[in-house]
This record gives sequence, structure tokens and C-alpha cells, in this order.
Amino acid sequence: MENVKEPVTLLEAILYFANRDNCREYLIARRWPGGVTCPRCGSKSVIFQSKHNRWQCASHHDRRQFTLKTGTIFEDSPIGLDKWLAAMWQIVNCKNGISSYEIHRALGVTQKTAWFMDHRIRFALGMGAVNKLSGEVEADETFIGGKARNMHIAQRKRRITGTGTKDKTAVMGILERGGRVRATVVPNRKKSTLQADVKKQVEAGVALYADALLSYEGLASDYAHQVVDHAVQYVDGKVHTNGLENFWSMLKRGISGTYISVEPFHLFRYLDEQTFRYNHRQGMNDGERFDVAVRQIVGKRLTFNQLTGKTNSGAWPN
Ligand SMILES: [Zn+2]
Repeated sequence: MENVKEPVTLLEAILYFANRDNCREYLIARRWPGGVTCPRCGSKSVIFQSKHNRWQCASHHDRRQFTLKTGTIFEDSPIGLDKWLAAMWQIVNCKNGISSYEIHRALGVTQKTAWFMDHRIRFALGMGAVNKLSGEVEADETFIGGKARNMHIAQRKRRITGTGTKDKTAVMGILERGGRVRATVVPNRKKSTLQADVKKQVEAGVALYADALLSYEGLASDYAHQVVDHAVQYVDGKVHTNGLENFWSMLKRGISGTYISVEPFHLFRYLDEQTFRYNHRQGMNDGERFDVAVRQIVGKRLTFNQLTGKTNSGAWPN
């Protein structure tokens, strides 16, 4: 087939991925740069069946068929790749996020399906942290949520209650100045909890700036640790957590402006989505950002039951 230019804008992406050969070439180039192999047994001996747009594993031990979706976040879904990739494009490239309601309207899938797609895509974006943060690092916590009084009583009951602040969930943020951010849901604001997170995410010996919470006492031996007491000296030269303050306001604006409500159970996936966009905000265009995201779809599965915490119901919502 002709060498078609890969998409850079949303319009180009929608047109490009509407073509099944383009979808296939785009995904093969990222998933199997060394040639297509069977996702189940790893065999290189596979036969493409163009009529069905799938492969037949020719290994004597296997002989099963697979598609582009097998072994990815798209597996077992009746949704076409054109819709999956269009949804993914919007999620990774819309600065404040996009709600499942917008996906539902834009793609013509049911809202429940759109919601599930959203969560699977976020799941792919939540690539486990690999390298520890270094340089000048800020650490801070915040609370997300707390609109429980506006909710129906049944919904309110499902909300968990965080330590101290009712109906809110504690989130720990760690930011490398001029670089990456990590944001994780923490069960409480105890010293041991917060310190364990810092030690897990931050290289020893770096300059760490945190607020005056007593919780950070004791980290000084591992980090050149400086404290900001917000009440006294909000900004004292380098000793501040302004980078994280900016990230929190962006995050909260995104959540309250885009999503109707985020239940604590799902909050970590929204954090994954927002941190993915933040960490890929500079030095790349929309097409390149999407490319990074697509490389993360492999080897990830998330069933509807895992997602909702339920054990009944079918695999895919209608
Ligand atoms: Zn095989």
C-alpha cells in the first residue's frame, strides 16, 4: 500500500484510522517492529488472513488465531479500532481531559461503553514508574473530591471517607522541577505512608522541598530536605512547592470541569491520565504524544468486573 503520512491533527487521525490497513500498519510498526509474532506463544511463524484481518498462528503447539486487539487493552471488545484510536487520540491530547459523555456523543457508542473505553485507555497510560525522580524535587499532598452533599444518598454511601477530611481522598504528588510528575492515591497522611512514597519515587541525595507537615521529619538523612511553611514563608527563593501547586490546580480544574464526579475507587486512573499528559506536554506534537501512548497498550488487560469491583455481569457493557 502507498506510504500514507501518519496523522498529526485530530481530523487527520480520524480519517487515517478509518482505514483498516492504516490501523494495521500503524499498530504493527509499534507493537511488532521486528515482524508480527503470535501474542500467545511468541512464534514468528504466522499467516496473515487479509479477508478477516487476522493472523493464524502456524506453530504446531498453538494454531490459534489472533488480531491486532489480542493481548492489548482492546481485547474482547466489539468496538472497532477506528473508534478506539479516535478516543485515545482525544484523551491523550485534550489538555483538560475529555469525559466519557463526550466520547459517547462523538463516536456514537453508548455512554457505558464510552466509560469503559475511557478507563481502559487510562489503564494503558498508567505505565508503572520506571526511573526515580531527581534534581530538585517537590513533594506535597492534596485532597480531591468532597462534593458528596450534591450526590444521591446511594452514591454517597459508596464514597470512602478519607482520614480527617470527610468525603475526600488524599493524593500525594512528587514533582521534578522542569520535568516529570507522579501523583498517587494514598490511604492516609501518616508519616510512614508519605515517606515510603518519597523513598520509592525519589533518588536519595537530591534536594527535596516539601511543606511543613511533620510527616516529612526524618527524611533529612536521605535527602537535602528543605521545608516550606505555607503560613510563614510561602515563597522563599528555591524553597517552595509552586510546581506542584500548579499541577494540583490543573488537575482539579480538569476533574471538576470535565468529569461529572470521580469516585475514589477510580481516582488513580484519572491521575494516571493527567500525569501522562503533564509528563508529555513539552517537545512533542499530538501525533508523537499519541505514538507514545499507543506503545503502552500491549500486555494490558482490564475486565469490566475488575473495573467495577463486581463479580457478575458479562465481559463488555452494552
Ligand atoms: Zn501461537
